[in-house]
Amino acid sequence: MKIIMLGAPGAGKGTQAKKIASKYGIPHISTGDIFRANIKAGTELGKKAKSYMDQGLLVPDELTCDLVVDRISQPDAANGYVLDGFPRTIPQAECLTDALKNLGGQVDYAIDVDVPDENIVNRMSGRRACLKCGATYHIVFAAPKSEGICDVCGEKLVLRDDDRPETVLNRLKVYHDQTQPLIDYYSKAGVLKTVDGTRSLDEVFSEIVGILGE
Ligand code: ADP
Ligand code: ADP
Ligand code: ZN
Repeated sequence: MKIIMLGAPGAGKGTQAKKIASKYGIPHISTGDIFRANIKAGTELGKKAKSYMDQGLLVPDELTCDLVVDRISQPDAANGYVLDGFPRTIPQAECLTDALKNLGGQVDYAIDVDVPDENIVNRMSGRRACLKCGATYHIVFAAPKSEGICDVCGEKLVLRDDDRPETVLNRLKVYHDQTQPLIDYYSKAGVLKTVDGTRSLDEVFSEIVGILGE
């Protein structure tokens, strides 16, 4: 089962992708997590990606596509995966379609988590991230057991630099300009499924399970 998650920044793609990965036993592949891990490790890729991410801009397609094609060719991805945060542009979608053709497959489901812009800034300002293990929380809607501490690994939680309201507005603009056209792309491919992302975490997940099957 090859799934991609679409939706604005903060719509809940990562939250749902992790639940999908765990229920269906497939890897969760997040380009944002891969870039953040590279920034933390101080790699060349991390240095390049950081300058774009800090401004709320997309990392160039050339840097992103190869990375994803390499990742989905790994043995653990043979039975499928859930891609979170990729593709984000039409050229990235075309790169994925071509790579899948070569590997003998196609995207089975493109799940669009639909949340209006008005809800996004609140979601993002309350998001807290663990930069060690990638877990995500919300101070109101998905609070950690102990304030400011990751339930999974005990690391201190942070407000991501790019989740500050000024940057969120840039990211929303980038989303509408560059990523939203993918909704049409995957609708034409016949694999688009839209879920109402304004509902609770569990309600959104039930809707997704209704689409993917028990
Ligand atoms: P969110 O989950 O809030 O949408 P991500 O963690 O997916 O954020 O992405 C954070 C940042 O990483 C993006 O704003 C962008 O700069 C960069 N990024 C992640 N995925 C991609 C991608 N597929 N193409 C280009 N840039 C990306
Ligand atoms: P994305 O990966 O699309 O950027 P996240 O999954 O990181 O989004 O979610 C953004 C923030 O909103 C996080 O703090 C998360 O805990 C919270 N969140 C996710 N889904 C919901 C929901 N259905 N209702 C309320 N808050 C949510
Ligand atoms: Zn953690």
